[in-house]
Amino acid sequence: MEIESMVANSALVRAREGGGSKGRSWKWKEMLRFPHISQCTNLAMNIEPDYYSLCMKQPIGKKLFQLFCRSRPDLQNYMSFLDALDTFEEKSDIERREFGISIIQRFLMSQSGQCVPTGPRHEQSCSQSLELDPCGDVFRDCREELHQHLSGEPFVQYQESMFFDRFLQWKTLERKPISKQRFRQYRLLGKGGFGEVWACQVRATGMMYACKKLEKTHVKKRQGEAMALNEKQLLEGLDSRFVVSLAYAYETKHSLCMVLTMMSGGDLRFHISNIGAPGLERDRVCFYAAEVCCGLIHLHQTSILYRDLKPENILLDDNGHIRISDLGLAVRLSEGSLVRGRVGTLGYMAPEVIGHEHYGMSADWWGLGCLIYEMTAGQPPFRARGDHPSASEMERKIQTQREEYSDKFSKEAKDLCTSLLTKDPKQRLGCRGSQWGEVQSHPFFQKINFRMLEAGLVNPPFKPDPRHVYCSDVQDIEEFSSVKGVTLNQTDNSFYSKFNTGSVPITWQNEMIETGCFRELNIFGPAGTRSPDLDW
Ligand code: ADP
Ligand code: MG
Ligand code: MG
Repeated sequence: MEIESMVANSALVRAREGGGSKGRSWKWKEMLRFPHISQCTNLAMNIEPDYYSLCMKQPIGKKLFQLFCRSRPDLQNYMSFLDALDTFEEKSDIERREFGISIIQRFLMSQSGQCVPTGPRHEQSCSQSLELDPCGDVFRDCREELHQHLSGEPFVQYQESMFFDRFLQWKTLERKPISKQRFRQYRLLGKGGFGEVWACQVRATGMMYACKKLEKTHVKKRQGEAMALNEKQLLEGLDSRFVVSLAYAYETKHSLCMVLTMMSGGDLRFHISNIGAPGLERDRVCFYAAEVCCGLIHLHQTSILYRDLKPENILLDDNGHIRISDLGLAVRLSEGSLVRGRVGTLGYMAPEVIGHEHYGMSADWWGLGCLIYEMTAGQPPFRARGDHPSASEMERKIQTQREEYSDKFSKEAKDLCTSLLTKDPKQRLGCRGSQWGEVQSHPFFQKINFRMLEAGLVNPPFKPDPRHVYCSDVQDIEEFSSVKGVTLNQTDNSFYSKFNTGSVPITWQNEMIETGCFRELNIFGPAGTRSPDLDW
C-alpha cells in the first residue's frame, strides 16, 4: 500500500475512534449556542401543532415532551407505563411473556398503586393476547389510548411550557443553513455516476457521515437533475434501520451534497470479491438477505420501487448490519400502478424490465434473487468469472437461460434463488397472492426471527474490524473526470435551491442525542422560569 493511502486510512480510523465527544471542535458549544427565545417566534407561529410529529416522530421533540410529562405528578404513571412498553419491544421472544405479565400487573390491574385510569378495561384482552402470542402487538389498544390522552390537555399545556420553548430553540438550530464549513473531510470512499463519496465529520458534534457529492456540471451534462432531486426527496421521507438516512442536503460552488449514514463496513461488492475466495459464508448470506428483505419491504410499503439492487449498493455499518443505499433509480408508484423503463444495471435487471414491459415491485424480488445468488456463488447468475458477454448476449441469457447452481448452494438456497429468479413476474416468489410474506417464510430463512431482526435485536454474524478500512485504496479509485463546456445559469440555480434544504429533522435530532450534545446542552434554568434567556 502506498504511503498516501496509509495516511488517509489512519486519519479516518482515528476520526472514527474519536467519533462522538472526542471528535468535537473545541468551539462546539458556541456552534450549538441556543438562540434567544425571541428569535424563535416566527418558527413558533408556523409550526403545525401535530402531536404525532412533535411528540412521537421527532426524537428531540419526544424527549422534551417526556420531560414535560415527568414534571407533572398526575402523569407519572403514564410515563412509567410508556417506558415499560418501550422496554417490552426490546425483549427477546423468550422474555416477552414474563415481562408482559409484569406490565399487566403493574399498570392494568386496579389493585396496583401504578394502575393507569383506563388500565382495568384492558386487563383481560391484553392477558389473552399475551397468552395467545407474546410476540404480537399485545398492548396496541392501550398504547393508542394513552397517546389519545396525552395528545389532549397535556399536549396543549406542553406548548405553553418552557420545554416547548426549548424545543423551538433546538428547531431553530436545526434549521440553520448548511455549508461545507460544518464538516471536516477525510478520505475518498467510493465513486459513483455523478461524483464521489467522501468520509466526513460534523465539527460541532463529532458525528461521522458519508458525503455523496454530485458534480453540478456532470449532473447538467447528463440531464440528471430530476434523478438527483428524486434521490434526495425519497431519502428525506424515509426512516428505516435498513435504508441509509439522509442527514443534510446542501450545495457548494461546484457540487450538490447528500450527507448520509456512515457505513464503515464498506459495500457488499468489496466483501464478496476482495476478501478471500469470492462469495460469503452461509450464515452471512442468510443474515444479509434477511435484512435486505426487510429494507425492500419497508420501501415497498411506502410505495417505493428500488430498482438498483446489486452488491455495490448494499453497505455494512460498523456493527455489521446492512443498509440499502443509492436511491437514484427508485420511483414512487401510486397505488397499484406500474412503470416502464429500462433502468438498473444490466446484469441485475429483471426479464420484464429488459423486455420493455410494465412492471411493479416484482423487479426488486428478482434483484434479491440475483444478490443471494452472487453472495453464495461469488459471481452473478448470468455471467461466469472472466466472462465479458455483449449486452445483447446478456439480455438473451437473462430472458431465456436457466441459471446454474454449484454445490455451494444448499437445497434451501437453491430453491429460494430459483423461485426469485422466475422469469414470469406473476409466478415469482414475493409477487404472488401473499406477496412478501412468502419470502420471509421460505425455509431458507428458517433460523431468522424477523420480529427481532426488525427491532435490531439480532447480532450480525460478522463484525467489521474498527481499525480496518473496507474499501479500495485511495489511489485505486479512478479519478473523477471533469467536464468542460458546461455553463451553469439561472434555471440551474432554481433547481439547486430545491435540493439545498439543509438538515433533515429526524436524522439531525438523532445526531444531537447519539453524540451526547443534547444531554450536555439541554440544561434548564431555575425551576419555573419560563423564559430561558440565561446564557446556556
Ligand atoms: P451511485 O449512485 O453513483 O452509484 P452510490 O451512492 O452507489 O453512487 O455510491 C458509490 C459508492 O460509494 C458505493 O458503492 C459505496 O462503495 C460508497 N458509498 C456510498 N454511500 C456510502 C456510505 N453511506 N458509507 C460508505 N460508503 C458509501
Ligand atoms: Mg451505486
Ligand atoms: Mg445511483
